[in-house]
Amino acid sequence: MSDERRAELAANLARVEDRIAAACKAAGRDRDEVTLIVITKTYPASDVRLLAELGVAHVGENRDQEAAPKAAECADLGLTWHFVGQLQTNKARHVAAYADYVHSVDRVRLVSPLSAGAVRDGRELGILLQVALDKEGAEPAGRGGVAPEGVAELAAAVAAAEGLRLDGLMTVAPLSGRYAGRQQEAFRRLMEISSGLRAAHPGASMVSAGMSADLEEAVAAGATHVRVGSAVLGVRPRLR
Ligand SMILES: *Cc1c(COP(=O)(O)O)cnc(C)c1O
Repeated sequence: MSDERRAELAANLARVEDRIAAACKAAGRDRDEVTLIVITKTYPASDVRLLAELGVAHVGENRDQEAAPKAAECADLGLTWHFVGQLQTNKARHVAAYADYVHSVDRVRLVSPLSAGAVRDGRELGILLQVALDKEGAEPAGRGGVAPEGVAELAAAVAAAEGLRLDGLMTVAPLSGRYAGRQQEAFRRLMEISSGLRAAHPGASMVSAGMSADLEEAVAAGATHVRVGSAVLGVRPRLR
């Protein structure tokens, strides 16, 4: 069973790798400008172990209750852990114990518990601000994320916090608003916001965008990190 699963994951990974390489080539970018983060949510630690054996170095999770035990079970693998899910204030301190990066910081209230957790554990946590492109201007709020207008203030709060390193921006292509169905334009807008951010914070150069369905558009726009789940692990069972 594990051999079968390993072969399935290897084949899926090879397909995703081909897609990233082709997207880089089409965009005139070097393949090593783009880091693949495999999102392992809902899949067991045994899959994470197989992925590590297949050469995956970065994995991501979106729920603290699931991520914490999985990261503990896989602590021997030397993986880099990315937390990409919506974060509750009361979980933020805990996430700092195992995450290397948090992609989903979307409000100033998260800064102090994340900082406290990082300081407590003597770690430095890489922080990405999650931008909700569909919150821009007068458009209605969508899923989690800070409106583009709020990025500068949130960035300043993260940059000033002990134990936190401001690394860049993350987005999920909006399902509603002016960017619905226009991933490439959404990701280009994120790159503009990233340029503005880097003017004030030159080190904040990570751009986390693109998932199984739209990684090509993200790579074309300039993403440095793509977050791919189902194209590697299979279609997830219905979320609990
Ligand atoms: C689940 C998830 C992904 C991966 O999505 P797929 O469509 O399965 O590739 C990427 N980013 C975030 C924030 C996620 O929650």
